[in-house]
Amino acid sequence: MKIRKINCPYCNVLMNYKGTKRIQLGKSGVIFEHIDQWLSGALTASIYECPECGKLEFFRYRKAKKEK
Ligand SMILES: [Zn+2]
Repeated sequence: MKIRKINCPYCNVLMNYKGTKRIQLGKSGVIFEHIDQWLSGALTASIYECPECGKLEFFRYRKAKKEK
């Protein structure tokens, strides 16, 4: 997975890539409640954090699939 360059929408500074984490849904985190509908079980996400305000940005990790 390529690391994206993302600017914080609030501070307009480059967000730091924090790596990918596997997140269990349903047990931890109300913030993932709204995406339960397209997920089941767990999600692997790439996480970015703003060094200024601490805003977190998540991107769902997708396994590379070869297009036919
Ligand atoms: Zn920020």
